[in-house]
Amino acid sequence: MTDDIKCIIGLEIHTQMKTKSKIFCSCPVTESEPNTNVCPICLGYPGTKPMLNKKVLENGVKIAKALNCNIPQHVFFSRKSYFYPDMTKNFQITQYEIPIGLNGNLSIPWEGKSIKIRIKRAHIEEDPGRLEHVGGDITNSKYTLVDYNRAGIPLIEIVTEPDFTNPEQAGVFLKKLRAILEHLDVYDSDMIMKADANISIQGGARVEVKNITGFHNIMKALEYEYNRQRIMAKQGNFVKLQETRAYSEGSKTTKQLRLKESEADYGYIFEPDLSWQNMNTDRLSIIFKTMNELPDERIERFRKEYNLTPEISTVLIYTDKALADFFETCAKKVKDKVLLANWVTTHLLKCLNYNDVSISKSKLSPENFSKFVIMLENGELNERLGKELIKELVSTGKDVKKLMSEKNISVISDADIESGIVEVLKKNEKAVVDYKAGKVESFTFLLGEVLKKIKYQADVQKVKNLLEKKL
Ligand SMILES: [Zn+2]
Repeated sequence: MTDDIKCIIGLEIHTQMKTKSKIFCSCPVTESEPNTNVCPICLGYPGTKPMLNKKVLENGVKIAKALNCNIPQHVFFSRKSYFYPDMTKNFQITQYEIPIGLNGNLSIPWEGKSIKIRIKRAHIEEDPGRLEHVGGDITNSKYTLVDYNRAGIPLIEIVTEPDFTNPEQAGVFLKKLRAILEHLDVYDSDMIMKADANISIQGGARVEVKNITGFHNIMKALEYEYNRQRIMAKQGNFVKLQETRAYSEGSKTTKQLRLKESEADYGYIFEPDLSWQNMNTDRLSIIFKTMNELPDERIERFRKEYNLTPEISTVLIYTDKALADFFETCAKKVKDKVLLANWVTTHLLKCLNYNDVSISKSKLSPENFSKFVIMLENGELNERLGKELIKELVSTGKDVKKLMSEKNISVISDADIESGIVEVLKKNEKAVVDYKAGKVESFTFLLGEVLKKIKYQADVQKVKNLLEKKL
């Protein structure tokens, strides 16, 4: 869409950081029965003191570094005071004054170029408990249960400047961010990503869509709000007062929660039970040394090692780190890396999406898929037969050779193709005469007939060559 309505989007992304235990106690972070992963510290008993999980700080440093942020020399934690049943202490331990990362940036690929999105800050905090409004939502349920298993789970919050001009850019950013977190091993693809989004049209007031859960919903909410405000703006009707809206998954729309709200005064105070953390150069360089390869570095390596274009590597790496890992395992066996990458990013990915399954949860092993691509490489399979097989390889996990014999699929010999050609030519004498008289379409017709005759069980190019020879 090209018109002069300029849109501005900024994001605040919250996600869990991967650790074995909670941020300030040794309770596990695994899924369990409600209120079983708890202790006096995460339940906020008076007299208990938090102890910082060093792994959380390390993860925070890695994220800040990957987002090109400044990491302050000293960091500390603060108490954000509020009274709510999901927070037993009546305050949340977070970073406010000095976060782990400040003033960074992340470049994203956009329309063949690279654009820089500024990162305002990245800070570490603890998750509160989870409220369950039984039989409805907060406005109509009869009673509410609370589960403190989540209380004290470490989170990272990443805040961008309002640098996106449309939802698709925000989508690319989120995919790249997710890939970075996965590559740093501080995030698992089944962890939930949440976002608050600020959206406005130049000339209008700011709208904040709060608490959107999951990548898919974030995109839907952004698209809806973007289109709503653009349509309003085209009619000369701008958002006049700053407002907060909520996204509804059911109706896929946003609705107004409240108008014009200033930043709530949470009365942040320094957390006296946790010491200042000295982030000196020595300490930081030890952490930096343990950082894994990042997506941009991997894209460059894929170009050098496998001769892949940045576009195809981006699909492999941004979709799911496990998909890029799967490709690399197969690449150890398959000679033609480009053919392999093409099959992974087109037909395989399509099948996975269709079945709504990730590569790590699918039944297809890299060994089996390598065997399959090697057969394509050797001409023992062609694209058409391959497309037919791949669906079942993904859903059943059966060995490719076994599956081919079960389905009676094979590529036929040259002699069989030739006898097929002879039969087709005999039946279609007129087309042969037309072709010889210079009618090119007749060749396409004859080729189609031969392919039908041999049930597509051969490479099309090969059939074409043989048919040309015969004619
Ligand atoms: Zn605990």
